[in-house]
Amino acid sequence: MNFINSYAQLPEHFYAKIRTANAPEPELIAWNKELAMQLGLNELDADEARLARIFSGNEPLPGGETIALAYAGHQFGHFVPQLGDGRAALIAEIVSPVDGERYDIQLKGSGQTPFSRNGDGKSSLGPVIREFLLSEAMHKLGVPTTRALAAVSTGEDVVRETREPGGVMTRVASSHIRVGTFQYFASRDDKAAMKELTNYAIARHYPDAASAEQPVFAFFSAVVKKQARLVAHWMALGFIHGVMNTDNSAISGETLDYGPCAFMDEFHINKVFSSIDRQGRYAYGQQANMAQWNLTRLAECLMMLDGDQKDYESLLDQFIPAFEEHYFAFMGNKLGLAELTDDDPELITAWLQHLQDNQLDYSQSFRQLATCLDNSESISFGDFEARWLKRIDQQDGGREEAGRLMASSNPVVIPRNHQVERAIEAAFEDDFSVFNELRQVLASPFTEQPGLEHYSIPPESHERVMATFCGT
Ligand code: AMP
Ligand code: MG
Repeated sequence: MNFINSYAQLPEHFYAKIRTANAPEPELIAWNKELAMQLGLNELDADEARLARIFSGNEPLPGGETIALAYAGHQFGHFVPQLGDGRAALIAEIVSPVDGERYDIQLKGSGQTPFSRNGDGKSSLGPVIREFLLSEAMHKLGVPTTRALAAVSTGEDVVRETREPGGVMTRVASSHIRVGTFQYFASRDDKAAMKELTNYAIARHYPDAASAEQPVFAFFSAVVKKQARLVAHWMALGFIHGVMNTDNSAISGETLDYGPCAFMDEFHINKVFSSIDRQGRYAYGQQANMAQWNLTRLAECLMMLDGDQKDYESLLDQFIPAFEEHYFAFMGNKLGLAELTDDDPELITAWLQHLQDNQLDYSQSFRQLATCLDNSESISFGDFEARWLKRIDQQDGGREEAGRLMASSNPVVIPRNHQVERAIEAAFEDDFSVFNELRQVLASPFTEQPGLEHYSIPPESHERVMATFCGT
């Protein structure tokens, strides 16, 4: 195992050295062998009891150093100068023997830290199951994201609205540097720390920026590009992050923090799931604007270091066009279009309007539309269908090529909330069969899996989950 723990070598006010809590009876619920292999941690595979001890926080990972990171953040538009890892512990930084990349290994729910404020630092098993399923599904869907290495139950209840079994989720990220990390130092007017953090982030994530004429601005520009593509990819999959606060916006461009998030069932542009998002700030259709808002906060921090305000502004102005370019490209592929013409955005919009007007399921409708290519099914998509087929027929490769593109762009299965809730309910009763089965289907989201079709189907009215709650 190749540890470096470079964040722990940054100045002391970047983090707090901590000790994790002692879980009374840790038990391993899930271990991600594929990811363990990628991290060079597969030699731990053999000893399940030890895995449970390490990934509950009861035993240190040899070679690691345990710290809680400091950060600030805008939560629903309100600035909080100190948040930080209140229920998370970075236990190690590791260089993958497979891809040579550096990864953070972080426990979530392993007890209080100096950043816990009034929280218990713990997690219910519910959010552990949810993040495990969603982040791994997101990865298999091809979207940059943090990942899930392990899930452990602690043998101890936590008190939320009711008493619930406690758990610890092990998250793997290419780093945990957030927009909020920059805000933490900028709001303290700590220019030395800003410099240090920026250099660190450049070296770790965007090394090419170091040799640019204005490294900080080049770094910003790289972050902007990553975010534009990320949000476009989310939206193409019908994903609503739910809590795009600046502390949940990762500099690496990975999806971070699976709290009150959801993959949409029936399409609506203003869909909100999060029970805490009463104003619809983070509604499905708002996400590009919110990413731009977060990047504007990052620009305000970075301007302390170098670059011209005008340059930052004009780059931010290009964010929405950059997002749209990615978004329409993704959506075009989902409709079987390899390359877009000027009229295609309008065709895409008409499709979405059709889905919304008829309250159709977002993911399933794309798969059903594909069956119109060879008339194998009799679902009709109204006027849209003829217009779309005409467009497909004008394209090189015709219907066959379009069908292939659609099959590889439209998942058969996504982690639907009602299924995730079923997995959580069963887990609360010590039954992990639904969780395990879901894990298995979601590992191949673009493949029809005989016998497991029911995981693709939208919820019946009594199964619908109307709101999701954050992990606290
Ligand atoms: P999140 O909702 O995960 O983005 O968390 C927002 C902030 O609340 C972060 O600083 C967390 O560390 C903190 N937090 C959330 N839940 C807890 C908890 N149970 N105990 C302590 N801090 C928490
Ligand atoms: Mg967070």
